[in-house]
Amino acid sequence: MRILIAEDAIVSRRLLQQCLQQWGYDVVVASNGAEAWQLFSAGDAHFPIVISDWMMPEMDGLDLIRRIRASSGSNYVYTILLTAKSEREDVVAGMEAGADDFLRKPFDREELRVRLRAGERIIQLEQTLAAQNRELRQRVEEVETFAYTASHDLQTPLRTFGSYAQLLLADYGKVLDEEGRELCEEILEDALHMKTLLDSLLEYSRIGREPTPAVEVDVKTVLDWVLHDLRPEIAETGATVQVPEGLPRVVYPEGRLTQIFGNLMSNALKFNEAGKPVVKVCCDEAAQVYRFTVQDNGIGIAPEHADRIFNIFERLHTRDTYPGTGAGLTIVKKIVEFHGGEIGVTSTPGEGSAFWFTVPKAGERPCSD
Ligand code: ADP
Repeated sequence: MRILIAEDAIVSRRLLQQCLQQWGYDVVVASNGAEAWQLFSAGDAHFPIVISDWMMPEMDGLDLIRRIRASSGSNYVYTILLTAKSEREDVVAGMEAGADDFLRKPFDREELRVRLRAGERIIQLEQTLAAQNRELRQRVEEVETFAYTASHDLQTPLRTFGSYAQLLLADYGKVLDEEGRELCEEILEDALHMKTLLDSLLEYSRIGREPTPAVEVDVKTVLDWVLHDLRPEIAETGATVQVPEGLPRVVYPEGRLTQIFGNLMSNALKFNEAGKPVVKVCCDEAAQVYRFTVQDNGIGIAPEHADRIFNIFERLHTRDTYPGTGAGLTIVKKIVEFHGGEIGVTSTPGEGSAFWFTVPKAGERPCSD
C-alpha cells in the first residue's frame, strides 16, 4: 500500500520512512504541505494513506487535509495527523479538518503500526463497498437498458396484433360467429392494454436517460395546467380543489413537475368512493427543500400497502373498479428521487391519503433529467 508522508523535520521524516518501508509500504515523502499537495493532486499515483505533520511551512497539515478532503474523488484517503499538539481543542480542530486519526510526536513505532492497521481495515472496507456499488450500478443500468429496449422493441409486433385483430373484425366480422367476434375484441382490448403498459415502462426507463433541462418554474402555473387537463374529471366528480397562495418558484424540468402533480392529483380524484372529492395542495418550506403535499378525502391505503404501491404495475384494485396501469406512482417516485427528492404517503383507510414529495431548493439540486 502506498503512503504519502508530509513532514518538514528531517529526522522525524527519515524515521517514519524507515519504519514504513520496513513494514513493506511503498513510501513517498514530501518536505512540506505544499509539496505533498502537489504530489497528491498531480494524480500520477493514488495515496490511500497520508501521514502529515501539523506545523509545516508554506502549507500546514490541516490545510493539506482539508484540500485532500475537498478534492476527494471516488477513493477514500485515510489521513493521520502527526503532532505535538494534544489539547482537546487541537484534537477537535484536526478532526474537523477531516483527519481520521492522531499520532503524538515523537511517535511510538508500535502505536504507529496498530494505527496504520486500523486505517488499512477502513480502506479495505471502503474499497469493498466501492466495488459492490460499482457492480450494483452496473446491474441497475443493465436492467434499465433491458426495460428500455424490451418496451421499445415490443411495440411493433404488438401494433401488428392489434391491427390484425381490427382487420379480422372489419373484414371477417360477418363470417365469424359471436364467440369468434368476442375473441377478436378481447385480443384487441388486451393489445391496447399491453400498449399502455409498454408505454408506461418506456416512460419509466426514459427518466434520466433522455435529457430534460431544469428551468425556473412557477409551481402555481404548473398546477394551473394540471387542473386544466383534469377539468373533465373535476366536472364529472364535482370535486373541490384547493391550491394555496404564494407557491414558490423551483428549478426543475417543467414537464417532469407537471407529470408528478398530474399523477398525484388524478389519483386523488380517482380513488374516491363516496361523495365529492376534496383535494388540497400544500407547500412547506424547510432549510434545503420544498415539501409539497397532495391530500385527498378518498378511499385511503392500508398501512401494509403503503410501500407496495410505489412498485411498478402494483395495484390494490382491479381495472374494472378503478382504471389504470399501476405505473404512475413508480414513475413519479423515479422522477422525484432522480432530482434529489423524497416521496411518501400517509393515509387512513376510509378517510383519505396525503402524498408528499420534496424538491431541493435551487443550488441544492443535483442535475437536469
Ligand atoms: P394507477 O393509478 O394506474 O393504479 P399508480 O401507480 O398511480 O397507478 O397507483 C398505484 C396504486 O396505489 C393504485 O392502484 C391505488 O391502489 C393506490 N393509490 C394511488 N393513489 C391513491 C390515492 N390517492 N388514494 C388511494 N389509493 C391510491
